[in-house]
Amino acid sequence: MSAGPSTTLPGRDVLVTGGGGFIGSHLVDALADDCDVRVLDDFSTGSRENLPEGVTLVDGDVRDREAVAEAVDGVDAVFHLAAVVSVDRSVEAPLESHAVNVDGTLAVLDSARRADARVVAVSSAAVYGDPSEVPTPESAPLEPLSPYGVDKLAVDQYARLYADLYGLPAVVVRPFNVYGPRQSASDYSGVVSVFLERALAGDPIPVHGDGEQTRDFLHVSDAVDGLVAAAESDATGEAFNLGTGRQVSVNDLAAAVKAVTDSDAPVRHTDPRSGDVRHSCADVGKAHRTLGFEPSVRLREGLATLV
Ligand code: NAD
Repeated sequence: MSAGPSTTLPGRDVLVTGGGGFIGSHLVDALADDCDVRVLDDFSTGSRENLPEGVTLVDGDVRDREAVAEAVDGVDAVFHLAAVVSVDRSVEAPLESHAVNVDGTLAVLDSARRADARVVAVSSAAVYGDPSEVPTPESAPLEPLSPYGVDKLAVDQYARLYADLYGLPAVVVRPFNVYGPRQSASDYSGVVSVFLERALAGDPIPVHGDGEQTRDFLHVSDAVDGLVAAAESDATGEAFNLGTGRQVSVNDLAAAVKAVTDSDAPVRHTDPRSGDVRHSCADVGKAHRTLGFEPSVRLREGLATLV
């Protein structure tokens, strides 16, 4: 671990991989006024419509080293978000998930090393698996339970190694459950979107198991603040949790969604999902102390941004 040069972002050339996706597109929105923003995306889950005017688009795949080198060339900072994000897809097709998530990350880190760009590598709370300590600090054992989690552990460790071996100014963030506008309602990471969609339609809200499992729901605007703070800090070779530090049960989430949508949709308990983590919550002390990270959006307020 070492301190590296800090990068104040305004006026800089910045690349966002996965910038057409849920979190990436909010990050692009936040940067577009003050930075020259480039986006590398293959739009497999993201959308061109998410992008504001004036962004330079590199329509390509993070597995394509030439496309990555072209996208990274000349930028000061890279936010690396492009990934196969679905845990279920990683279980169905671990080789594909690995190729995008791990080989793609290596391509980004290696090009950034040549361009001497600062990198914010986006890992995940999935690296902790079923944590023994909740709220979970960054120092907790890293024992992922899915191919996606193992991929993210590789992202995490390669970024640290590139910092240690080559002096690349890379930093890692581990977001917990991010929610907000533009999130797809297609898999478990989109539980908030699924609940909202059902509540608004008056359809049953599907809660796995007893619903007393807890998650740490971070509004996307706070996640973006954490990403920017990580880029602008001088921390290098370190990982930071991004969450709220508050545990919310899935039952409480369903109740909050019903309240903000004024819905009387019933809650339907389904079989528990095998391999589901019981409790997940970030210890955000390190991110607060080092990055000044301070999530500010309360759950009900955040849900209201989606209605
Ligand atoms: P998303 O699916 O909306 O965004 C991923 C983006 O990457 C999409 O625009 C997609 O088109 C692009 N992409 C996928 N494969 C690609 C490839 N081979 N080449 C180029 N682009 C490709 O998902 P998201 O929720 O916005 O996730 C963004 C990042 O944050 C991911 O790295 C994810 O692992 C991480 N993350 C998300 C959460 C969450 O709660 N959403 C939590 C922890 C970590």
